[in-house]
Amino acid sequence: MEQLEQVYEGKAKKVFRTDDPALYIVEYKDDATAFNGLKKGTIAGKGVINNQMTNRLMAKMEKAGIPTHFVRELSPRQTLVKKVSIVPLEVIIRNISAGSFAKRYGVEEGIVFDQPTIEFSYKNDALGDPLINSYHALALKLATAEELDTIRRYAFAVNDTLKAFWAECGVTLVDFKLEFGRLEDGTIVLADEISPDTCRLWDSKTQKKLDKDRFRRDLGGVEDAYQEIMERLLCHDAD
Ligand code: ADP
Ligand code: UDP
Repeated sequence: MEQLEQVYEGKAKKVFRTDDPALYIVEYKDDATAFNGLKKGTIAGKGVINNQMTNRLMAKMEKAGIPTHFVRELSPRQTLVKKVSIVPLEVIIRNISAGSFAKRYGVEEGIVFDQPTIEFSYKNDALGDPLINSYHALALKLATAEELDTIRRYAFAVNDTLKAFWAECGVTLVDFKLEFGRLEDGTIVLADEISPDTCRLWDSKTQKKLDKDRFRRDLGGVEDAYQEIMERLLCHDAD
């Protein structure tokens, strides 16, 4: 597999073309941003952790019957993935109130919901990724009704599998963001990443935050938290 030119550099990853037109290489950086790029920094070792964690979790999703873009890990920071056309929606599932949900609705963090919620943001940096509903997504032709149904079904299935897995590691899955894409033939697959950058993960006993909120909120111990959550994953990850 030959790495060709870079097609995109995002806030946390770079994307490269390969000699196979159906495959991309993604490279995870240590760069961290928050608040739509307003806050910038570096989290040493984050790229390696996010790459390896994403790949292990993507493999679990495949096993659970959710198709993903994952092909194979190439190196500590690089992974071969199926090239997709990203559906420009951030799909957010929540099990517990936190972050923008708590702020928007004026409630404290930590309220455990009877059932998970789903919401969409329009993936558009210039607009600040505004919250939209499925009717708006259809009106804007971001996805078809059938694609939205598939995305919703997969997103809740990811939640079931991910929540159960993290619970075994003594970690509470609070909320997370997913991105989906279309393969050449239109098949919807889970893409992008599943990492402490994109999930809220709390220690089940102490509620200690083991995710990017330590960076966003200047809580300190950011690198240690990323290391700790990776260790939690590895010690329960026999397969
Ligand atoms: P951002 O674009 O938000 O700064 P990243 O730094 O993570 O985010 O950049 C990675 C980009 O690659 C994202 O825009 C993401 O949507 C896109 N992407 C993720 N997986 C794939 C894939 N399999 N094929 C094409 N693009 C992808
Ligand atoms: N999230 C993300 N990227 C975004 C926005 C949110 O990965 O651009 C994740 C975030 O890490 C959290 C979940 O989605 O796990 C819900 O985030 P929220 O809407 O509460 O927004 P935030 O507090 O990050 O503004």
